[in-house]
Amino acid sequence: MLLVDDLAANIQVLYRIFAEDHEVFMATSGEQALALCDRDQLPDLILLDVEMPGLDGLEVCRRLKANPATRDIPIIFVTAQTDALDETRALEAGGVDFISKPVNPAVVRARVKTHLTMKAQSDLLKAIVFIDGLTGIANRRRFDEAIQTEWRSCRRGGLPLTLFMIDIDHFKQYNDRYGHQEGDACLRRVATAVRLQLGRPHDLAARYGGEEFVCLLPECDLEAGRVKAEEVCAAVEALAIPHAGSATAAVVTVSVGVASAFPQDGSGAEILVAAADAALYQAKSSGRNRVCFKPAA
Ligand code: GH3
Ligand code: MG
Ligand code: MG
Repeated sequence: MLLVDDLAANIQVLYRIFAEDHEVFMATSGEQALALCDRDQLPDLILLDVEMPGLDGLEVCRRLKANPATRDIPIIFVTAQTDALDETRALEAGGVDFISKPVNPAVVRARVKTHLTMKAQSDLLKAIVFIDGLTGIANRRRFDEAIQTEWRSCRRGGLPLTLFMIDIDHFKQYNDRYGHQEGDACLRRVATAVRLQLGRPHDLAARYGGEEFVCLLPECDLEAGRVKAEEVCAAVEALAIPHAGSATAAVVTVSVGVASAFPQDGSGAEILVAAADAALYQAKSSGRNRVCFKPAA
């Protein structure tokens, strides 16, 4: 958690309450607090003083609530004021709760515990909603959101966005010969192999449905995407999962359709999906276990 107050003595009081059970970070100004929230490891909760020179607590709260990366951090205001109007303004700025100074340790501990529990539960639910139950990688819902977000972000930055559509070859045959449980185990191994090929923080591997997977690669052009897709294809073959019913190879293989676009105003992410689909169809019809690619119009 993060404690923010311009008076070191006030921080000390709170620090003594929480130091034993929590990892506690401290900031003595609004600017410092924002800097501490601009890192990979975000606080689970912030106790924020309202009155501070420079950026005050209300402004810090507003800025954190306006940023999608920090929006969900619960903020509890701690202040000397007990005015009803100030309380209203603090809650309107996006605070979840309000504690007055001097703090009562039992009260502040109880409030913090409540909000940390709610935050943990909501984080867990969010994670479950976006994960495919069978393979443990991202699910279709996550992909549908991500492609919209990345499309907009690449359009703003003038950057390319690349999509792979991946489909396991002769998977119906695999199920018929080895049974559905082996089929499920195969899907898990293929999903993991695909995911492990992606290295950048914004890359996403997801299960699109059935035995189909997608990879979304922001800031990646068609040529770099083609190279990466070849690696994905080779990684699945290298799993060496026996597939006696395949007319393509002795092991499980995938076909990959790659499409890439520089997102523009006036067209949507659907063109990328359609182009990757068309490229996948081409990979299937020209022999499977291969990568075909297509620039999206
Ligand atoms: P192709 O090479 O043309 O892609 O042939 P295919 O047999 O892979 O294609 P098809 O789409 O006909 O078959 C897909 C199979 O994937 C059929 C379905 O039973 C199987 N499948 C889809 N979802 C699951 C799943 O969750 N578990 C298992 N075990 N099988 C699944
Ligand atoms: Mg299929
Ligand atoms: Mg298939």
